[in-house]
Amino acid sequence: MLWDRTLDYTLSSTGEGAAERLGAVSSSPRVSQASVPVSAQLFERAAAVIPGGVNSPVRAFKSVGGTPRFIASAQGCTLTDAGGNDYVDLVCSWGPMILGHAHPAVVDAVRSAATKGLSFGAPTEAEIELAEAIAARVDPVERVRLVNSGTEATMSAVRLARGFTGRSKIVKFSGCYHGHVDALLADAGSGVATLGLPTSPGVTGAQAADTIVLPYNDLEAVAAAFAANPGEIACVITEAAAGNMGAVAPQPGFNAGLRDIAHANGALLIMDEVMTGFRVSASGWYGIDGVAGDLYTFGKVMSGGLPAAAFGGRADIMNHLAPLGPVYQAGTLSGNPVAVAAGLATLRTADAEVYAALNRNSERLGKLLGAALDAEGVPHHVQFAGNMVSVFFAENPVTDYHAAKASQTWRFPAFFHALLDGGVYAPPSAFEAWFVSAALDENAFDRIAAALPAAARAAAAATPEGSAA
Ligand SMILES: *Cc1c(COP(=O)(O)O)cnc(C)c1O
Repeated sequence: MLWDRTLDYTLSSTGEGAAERLGAVSSSPRVSQASVPVSAQLFERAAAVIPGGVNSPVRAFKSVGGTPRFIASAQGCTLTDAGGNDYVDLVCSWGPMILGHAHPAVVDAVRSAATKGLSFGAPTEAEIELAEAIAARVDPVERVRLVNSGTEATMSAVRLARGFTGRSKIVKFSGCYHGHVDALLADAGSGVATLGLPTSPGVTGAQAADTIVLPYNDLEAVAAAFAANPGEIACVITEAAAGNMGAVAPQPGFNAGLRDIAHANGALLIMDEVMTGFRVSASGWYGIDGVAGDLYTFGKVMSGGLPAAAFGGRADIMNHLAPLGPVYQAGTLSGNPVAVAAGLATLRTADAEVYAALNRNSERLGKLLGAALDAEGVPHHVQFAGNMVSVFFAENPVTDYHAAKASQTWRFPAFFHALLDGGVYAPPSAFEAWFVSAALDENAFDRIAAALPAAARAAAAATPEGSAA
């Protein structure tokens, strides 16, 4: 069983940093190994009642080995685990926490909303304000509907695209993750990539048969797919800039080419901005390349860390949704007042200075990563998609999933664990972007800089056979 193996590994490696396991020299680890067993005990207890001990697979540290840290609290750019260890957070809940954790403006808004009631199952004024805030930031979005997760947003957008066009097939890109929607799991990045799953059992042939999976950044493949399926493709769905195979920006002209090819063939372009939206700029990736999609999906930042997400786009398409039109979509907790309050407070607090800080911080992080790996002669390429950053252990820039998978991912577990031992919490997978917050301060960067040399040495000493996965 999956979790048995995870647990065995965890228990056998408890108390040992990866750097030690791999024989690298680690200079006085910052995180006391004596307190890691608290997380190990919780992980063991969790695994007895939650499959794999986690409620989302990448959290289990399976591809890096070792014990996932159970988090007790977080403040600003710092996570504190159940054993009392502090870490500089470079995951930010996988993107949402651009302001840092427990930002007073967001906490106050949540507290105030909660005292007025948690859920009504009836419309509220705050939902209008959040929809207006989204539409005001992303021009092509004329109508917005709120949902509960990014998965729900993409599922609903694809259903709407199919209902609107009367067509069945969809195009997605290899390495792009759009949530765990059946039809969109084929060759997805993120946890699917981390666990090396081609797709998922339980997705039927019929559900996957209408999904055409193409290489990212390959417009010729898109043109060929449309030529081979005339009048059958409802939409192209793409991450506005890919972040779920690591940060892989669209090459110049790629998004515009998608729009042009889709429109020339009567299909819609769905820009999935669940990760990029309101993070890479106030207007998301649209604010960077200005290519208008017909439909958009949002999540993560727009709910400030609570469960909410949205999809939106052209009014003539969105008006096909029930109750105006025949395409059904609904949600008991959709537009939840507490989640909406957190999202609104986050968007309102994220001013130009916050975005400038995010950009500065990601650039600074990228430079530190590059310098440390250069110093140890580790083949690497640090790359950006807006202010999302990734380290690929590859000589050349990574432009698609094939190249991401071909990189020396076996160096990552040692690199990751040495950082963790040094009090720096990076994403526990070679296929994820690293997320900065505006709350990173000088002290945090000092800690990152102090942890990196040992991490780079561990990456240099790693061997393909030594991979923890
Ligand atoms: C995270 C993510 C999703 C899924 O969102 P959930 O809230 O996890 O369901 C969809 N698309 C992209 C691009 C994402 O990064």
